[in-house]
Amino acid sequence: MLSGRTDASTTAGTDTRTSEPQIELVGVRKVFADRGNGRGAEVVAVHGADLTVFDGELFAILGPSGSGKTTVLRMIAGFDEPTAGTIRLGGTDVVGVPARLRDVNTVFQDYALFPHMTVAENVEYGLKVKGVSRSERRTRTAEVLELVRLADFGPRRPTQLSGGQRQRVALARALVGRPRVLLLDEPLGALDLKLREQMQVELKAIQREIGITFVIVTHDQDEALTLCDRLAVFNDGRIEQVGAAREVYEHPANRFVADFVGTSNVFDGDDARALIGRSGSFSVRPENIAVLPADDVGAAGMRTVEATVAEVIYSGATTRVAAITAPGVTLTATVLSASATWARDLDHGTRITLAWPENAVHDLST
Ligand code: ADP
Ligand code: MG
Repeated sequence: MLSGRTDASTTAGTDTRTSEPQIELVGVRKVFADRGNGRGAEVVAVHGADLTVFDGELFAILGPSGSGKTTVLRMIAGFDEPTAGTIRLGGTDVVGVPARLRDVNTVFQDYALFPHMTVAENVEYGLKVKGVSRSERRTRTAEVLELVRLADFGPRRPTQLSGGQRQRVALARALVGRPRVLLLDEPLGALDLKLREQMQVELKAIQREIGITFVIVTHDQDEALTLCDRLAVFNDGRIEQVGAAREVYEHPANRFVADFVGTSNVFDGDDARALIGRSGSFSVRPENIAVLPADDVGAAGMRTVEATVAEVIYSGATTRVAAITAPGVTLTATVLSASATWARDLDHGTRITLAWPENAVHDLST
């Protein structure tokens, strides 16, 4: 299993080489008694995870539904305890420490706001419970509403807000207590795509401004790549890869990551031998494959293969071309619609050449 430190030197954004570990998971395992079948079977939700998130990082946990993301977050927050292993926050072992005593706050997807309270009352509620003075509550609530760009919304009721605004109130509510770490479980899941993309940018700006550690759980690979400094890719309770967004995208550690993070052409066995003359398991990103006219030999250093177009899928900015290569392996290429005017005439059955640079081929077996 990979540890979070392996690629710290390649991290973009936060410089993890100079910051301290903020969250450390060492051999964390979580087994649930299965509620469903009544036969006492167990569900291993997390199989011994090792992970380090550094202070000030915007870290994403990415994986399909049921891969153990929420369970990991709940154990960091203290809502669940690991079956085995250690969790440290700011260097201190927190296993057994109640959630309210951990310097962590959580934003869930179904961020229920109190409907009978105003926005400001919702935000300051946690401070009130802690006995923070009225004037201090006022100041801090105003500050945090300003941060999430809702300065004038304090007197409103949650029902008078849009989905995106309610989401920002939930964020303000979680930040007002000034935690060291903010955990966000699919926080944008309820928003439509446009708003989601806008909130991704805003979340990132807010995290940069306050500089605390954010761990954001998502099943959306675009969201993870857009938002994070580094990410961990989860699959079936295991961490498949940890790295900077670019690192994970450009150098997927295995077939699962290549498939799940972006789309990729993955081939192995006879297909690999036929296509590139090598044994093993390989991936090539569609955007690294050029679509050329049939008689084009490609630039020097490019590997080329003859192919026949199977399908052309226009999707606005890009066009996806699926083609069956002479060795019989189907490859998908993505071309920018604007830059490939001749590609407009491509159709099922058109003879083409596919070309890619040697270094676009990633060996998944190493
Ligand atoms: P994710 O957030 O990635 O969708 P979860 O962490 O919620 O995944 O769940 C991981 C696995 O653990 C799933 O198989 C899920 O059914 C199981 N699981 C989660 N919580 C419980 C629980 N309280 N009792 C039994 N099984 C659970
Ligand atoms: Mg979940």
